[in-house]
Amino acid sequence: MSSIEQTLSIIKPDAVERSLVDNIKDIFTKNNLKIKESKKIHISKDEASEFYKVHQSKPFYNDLCAYLSSGPIVVMILEGESAVITNRKLMGATNPKDAEENTIRKLYGISIDKNSVHGSDSIENAKKEIEFFFKN
Ligand code: UDP
Ligand code: MG
Repeated sequence: MSSIEQTLSIIKPDAVERSLVDNIKDIFTKNNLKIKESKKIHISKDEASEFYKVHQSKPFYNDLCAYLSSGPIVVMILEGESAVITNRKLMGATNPKDAEENTIRKLYGISIDKNSVHGSDSIENAKKEIEFFFKN
C-alpha cells in the first residue's frame, strides 16, 4: 500500500553557514522526496526552546536551543512515500561518527550537536512540527 506522507526537515546553522543547502536539497529530491515548502529563517532562543521542548529534561537541552537559534536555518516540508522514515534514513544516525556512508550526517555533520539536519521522528510529530513552522 502506498503511503504518501509529509515530514519536517531543518537544515541547521552549521550546514547553512557552510553553503550546504543545495547539496542537502539535492539528496532529498534525488531520493523521491519533494520539497513542498522551504524557507530560510532565524529563530529566537525561545522559539527553539518551544520547538525542542520534548528534550527539556536532557542535559544538552540548553545548548541545543542556543545552537538552533545561533544563525539562519532552512525549514522544509518534504513529501513522498514513507517520507518520515525515508528522511531519517537519508539523515543517518544522530552522531555523525555512527552514521552510515553517504548519509547527510556522515557527509556533512561535524559533531553530535552540529549534525547538519533535523528530521521528524514520527508521523504524529511531523504534523506538529509542520504546524509549528508553517501554519500560523
Ligand atoms: N543532541 C546533542 N547531544 C546528545 C544528543 C542529542 O547535542 O547527546 C542534539 C543533536 O543535535 C540532535 C538533537 O539534540 O540532533 C535532538 O536529539 P535526538 O535524540 O532527537 O536526535 P535526532 O532525532 O536529531 O537524530
Ligand atoms: Mg529527534
